Amino acid sequence: MLSLFSKGLVRGRVASNTTGVNIGGRPTTSIIRSYATTTSEQKQQQQVVGQSLRGKERLKTNLKVGDKLHGFSVVNVQDVPERQFNTFRLKHDVTGADYLHIDCEDKNNVFAVTFKTTPFDSTGVAHILEHTTLCGSKKYPMRDPFFNMLKRSLNTYMNAWTAPDHTSYPFGTQHEKDYYNLLSVYLDATFFPLLTESDFRQEGHRLEFEQLDNPESKLKFKGIVFNEMKGALSDPSGYFSEIAQQSLYPGTTYAHNSGGDPKDIPALSYQQLKDFHATYYHPSNAFFFTYGDLPVEQHLRYIEENALQHFKSPKQVDSKVNHVQRWDKPRRITVTCPPSAMDVNPERKHKLSISILHKDNTDIFEGLSMNVLSNLLIRGSNTPMYQALLESGLALDYTPNTGFDDNLHESSFGVGGTGIRKEDLEKVEQTIISTMEKASRDGFDSNVIESILHQYEFGQKDVSASLGLKLVGGLQSNWIHGGNPINRLFLNENIARLRKEIAAGPFFQNKLRQLLDNPHRLTITMSPDDTQQAREAAEEENVLLGIKSSLDSKQVETIVEQAKDLQQRQSQQQDVSSLPKLSISEIEKKQQKTPFIDEKIGSTDLRLFDFPTNGITYFRSMIDISTLPEDLKMYVPLFCSLFESMGAAELDHKQLDTEINLYTGRMNVSPMISTSPFNLDLVAERIYIKSAAINRNIEKMFSLLKKMMLENRWNNPDLLKNLLGQMQSSMIEGITSSGLSYARTYSSSQFSRAGQLSEKWHGLTHVKFTNDIIAKNDLNDIIAKLIAINKFILDRSLMRCSITTEKDTTELAKQQLSMFLQQFNENHTSMVNNEFQKSDNTGSSLPHYFAIPATVNYISKSYQGVNYSHEDSARLEVLSKVLSEYLHKEIREKGGAYGGGVSYASGSIGFYSYRDPNLAKTINAFNESIEWSQDKITLENVENAQLSIFADFDAPESPSNKGVAEWMRGITDEMKQQRRDRLLSINKNQLEEVSAKYLNPQKTSYTTVLGKPDTEIKGLSNKEWEYKELN
Ligand SMILES: [Zn+2]
Repeated sequence: MLSLFSKGLVRGRVASNTTGVNIGGRPTTSIIRSYATTTSEQKQQQQVVGQSLRGKERLKTNLKVGDKLHGFSVVNVQDVPERQFNTFRLKHDVTGADYLHIDCEDKNNVFAVTFKTTPFDSTGVAHILEHTTLCGSKKYPMRDPFFNMLKRSLNTYMNAWTAPDHTSYPFGTQHEKDYYNLLSVYLDATFFPLLTESDFRQEGHRLEFEQLDNPESKLKFKGIVFNEMKGALSDPSGYFSEIAQQSLYPGTTYAHNSGGDPKDIPALSYQQLKDFHATYYHPSNAFFFTYGDLPVEQHLRYIEENALQHFKSPKQVDSKVNHVQRWDKPRRITVTCPPSAMDVNPERKHKLSISILHKDNTDIFEGLSMNVLSNLLIRGSNTPMYQALLESGLALDYTPNTGFDDNLHESSFGVGGTGIRKEDLEKVEQTIISTMEKASRDGFDSNVIESILHQYEFGQKDVSASLGLKLVGGLQSNWIHGGNPINRLFLNENIARLRKEIAAGPFFQNKLRQLLDNPHRLTITMSPDDTQQAREAAEEENVLLGIKSSLDSKQVETIVEQAKDLQQRQSQQQDVSSLPKLSISEIEKKQQKTPFIDEKIGSTDLRLFDFPTNGITYFRSMIDISTLPEDLKMYVPLFCSLFESMGAAELDHKQLDTEINLYTGRMNVSPMISTSPFNLDLVAERIYIKSAAINRNIEKMFSLLKKMMLENRWNNPDLLKNLLGQMQSSMIEGITSSGLSYARTYSSSQFSRAGQLSEKWHGLTHVKFTNDIIAKNDLNDIIAKLIAINKFILDRSLMRCSITTEKDTTELAKQQLSMFLQQFNENHTSMVNNEFQKSDNTGSSLPHYFAIPATVNYISKSYQGVNYSHEDSARLEVLSKVLSEYLHKEIREKGGAYGGGVSYASGSIGFYSYRDPNLAKTINAFNESIEWSQDKITLENVENAQLSIFADFDAPESPSNKGVAEWMRGITDEMKQQRRDRLLSINKNQLEEVSAKYLNPQKTSYTTVLGKPDTEIKGLSNKEWEYKELN
């Protein structure tokens, strides 16, 4: 949870982001009992806040158009029955600030303030401002109130992000007092930030000598955003999306990188940063969003008193995004990009996409129609584009800009392929166009249309625990451009209209025709350039050499002084006492119990949950594969990802895909490893199957599942070859962005069976294995292995099932499950627990360095912890949080990495950093944090850690997920109560003890780095490092 430059978050192409989720009756009990007040600030808040009635019992907002309160006027009131929302739109009288409140019974309340920010260069000004506003404000003048609040609150979410045309600051919490604590900090940060020059230099960019006070050493660019963006742009997908957007929207703000291009970031001046804030962060350019069961009157009053009343007049802010000057004929560009992390398909390195500028994104019905069209054309194996582009083998995957995107002022539609041979580029381009042409003549199969519409219906019913937060991202993209955000909430109405239009004529065909006739079309061809990164690094070095040689002695002195100043400031003890904080006594002492019923159907265990699921039944099954022969185990991830893709019984793979969409909320099959809560060496190895269906389709769901289990069509070498190619391509494209995950999995793999297996199933070992079998190309052998795994799991004595549904559907669901299970034998394959055998030859214990084409590093260092029920386990969890607090300062603030800390999971204590320009310095910081923790932990450190742990421990869960994690891991309510007691009663001495016990230098630890090629470390290979090129 960091302040994200999160294009991924904002530019997601999944239609269900806003249109597919619904909130139902979700009974949660408030986790907090009392309201302690400690500081005067908090006392003042309590008078404002009071203790509101919550959830269903809340006093519903009762406002009508024209009502005036706390400086606002109500301009629109609208109920959204399909979601049980009452919505209220208000305007601030003086400044014109826009306000949307959604009143509903959800206790996970959300606040967000969004500013329309439209930069005109790629210096990253909006993004650096987003970071810097969170570094101290008028009321909270300490360094970094935002990160401090993460530890002083029970928030369910805290973040900030910069999108191409707006900057958002959202948070979520279930707790009323916490809500106003966070609101106070957010309002002050955004409207009254200090924006000091040293924060600008820390977060944005600065010049520094490699050795701070040695002007003879190399001059360097430093800064958190500078490194964050280096990381973001060395991800091939991120890079492609960025180029595609910039080139389709010339002459607008979208032609620039709002996150910042490392080449341009150093050009941003401190004054420009302050000016940008003064221009755009004015209430007249702001959009407030509140959601949940807390009374809006309170919110309005608080916002008026603490922020808006200080603005005496409206401001003309020129943040309008102009329409793109339309082209009269298509254009094309050819660009280069950094290479993929592995060179497994040297002849298939090219990417090509076609994107078309569409219409204003304020027309919600148009957006929905285009989303459905995009699904019909592109998603899943039963679509024409998939067949023409991927199944034909022309491309290995879609480019990230494939699909319909209405997150920008004018929407766009794109299709592209990656993993293309050079000689096929032209053919790919023709194929995309001819496939659209053909669909515009033939239209789509009505069954397939129904299957897509069913996915929208399902998504709308599926209750989410974080709906309010999803709405923040979804509603504002058209709201900030003058659209009515409420319109997006009416999915049923829009779907009904869509059905009518489809029935009335060649609806989708016409839409495709419009796209094809649109001359504002861009073709991008991208080819990797192995030398690009080295060239860019050399260019940066040259720029720095140039700067260095031009410096006079006074400037040199200033650089040294500023570096020392910053370092000193970063090391200063902060007085954060004025920041509001929840007290530990406010955490509920009693663990909430999750009711369930355990039954047996024959010899199969069944756990039944009865929760309000809004008419959906959720089914899960865990199949024990501990006794599966070891040589087959390597194939389990492959088995899982292909399980739904091959076809089953009379259904070929295309028909099966449509049936799954038509009757279920999709299926999910995955390998699962869970460590015993009592013994780290005991591990359950499973295949996990889950699915869900609207109650009318329960029978269909089980019938499909039965077909897939009993009659999966594995024996199809051509299809298999094709799918393996796609799988490999997306795996390799993702290595850079998953660098930390690979490093951690590798580091933890030496400690336990779970770690070892995890490396085989999800780590670099899995990557290598997949590459090897693809290179070997013995498809019949692979098929034989998949069939053997399939045979093995057809044993009901290996299965444990769970069902979540409402009471009146329980019998039906059980009956269907029982019929499903009858298909399988009971072989009672002897159940053995796989104890971990520490092999004699664990290989080199030298730290491992895997070189990837990145410009920053991902570092992980792991130590062995204990099992869940061990009394030290809770202590190690708290210690990890405490160490993270220390490391945040060292690795992020001082080191300029995007993030770093310690996580405690599955009995492994993992130190980490990511998007990190450093290596030795970071590893040093890991060691120093351990030393520090052995006698310098404060009471405040402990409390901060407890709060942030309970923010997760008591995070809201959707009805479909309640009790499921505990069922899987074998954790009871009593064990959770015990853990809660231990976490709450922890003291500083215990932490010092476990630090000395588990993290002392005699203990074995494993270090893994995925990082930029490094000749120095390569030189130390086999001596101090184990150095490998991933290729
Ligand atoms: Zn950022």
